Amino acid sequence: MVTKMLEGADVITGVDFNQDQDKWRAKARKVLYTGALDELFGYSLGHLEYRSVRFEDERIETDNWQGVAVVSYTSADVPYTRIIEHKHFEWVDSPVTWISREYPEEFGKSGEPYYPINNERNNELYRKYRDLADQCEWLLLGGRLAQYAYFDMDKTIRAALDLAGKCNG
Ligand SMILES: Cc1cc2nc3c(=O)[nH]c(=O)nc-3n(C[C@H](O)[C@H](O)[C@H](O)COP(=O)(O)OP(=O)(O)OC[C@H]3O[C@@H](n4cnc5c(N)ncnc54)[C@H](O)[C@@H]3O)c2cc1C
Repeated sequence: MVTKMLEGADVITGVDFNQDQDKWRAKARKVLYTGALDELFGYSLGHLEYRSVRFEDERIETDNWQGVAVVSYTSADVPYTRIIEHKHFEWVDSPVTWISREYPEEFGKSGEPYYPINNERNNELYRKYRDLADQCEWLLLGGRLAQYAYFDMDKTIRAALDLAGKCNG
């Protein structure tokens, strides 16, 4: 699916758009930006806050640890929020299994902005960055980071199709 979507397009990976915005902007009439919006504007109005996650992987000598791919833990006295048992995503037949425990962590320690913290302060800051973005006619914002929202995969694809529809319309 991805190969077909990229047919006829030049593909360059491993570059940070914000390291040389002018260079990449010169290559296209419109830019679909999927990174963090505060980063795009050099954090000029302040930092948006995120929650991050630390993953701890473990190999267990059993063919089945929890019976399903994902179990969520919501109790305050359990330090992790989820256990993923990877083999159940793809029905792997093996005598051992790998699990990953997900521990909530402050953004900054692991460096990955996973979940936006949509409180009043951050939403207001996002609105201000959005005002700046609206003044850039070359810019399209897509995805969870640029839209400062938590999206599951289905919502991400829906939002991408809606945006493509608007651009064609
Ligand atoms: C911990 C976690 C667990 C999740 N679990 C589930 C789940 O169980 N089920 C589910 O449906 N969804 C889940 N999701 C959500 C799913 O991962 C997202 O909905 C999806 O990845 C969002 O796609 P995206 O394109 O918006 O963002 P991303 O997948 O984050 O893609 C953004 C892209 O932009 C690129 N980028 C960012 N900044 C720059 C820059 N400056 N220059 C160049 N490129 C840049 C990044 O490299 C990346 O390729 C989970 C998300 C997280 C964080």
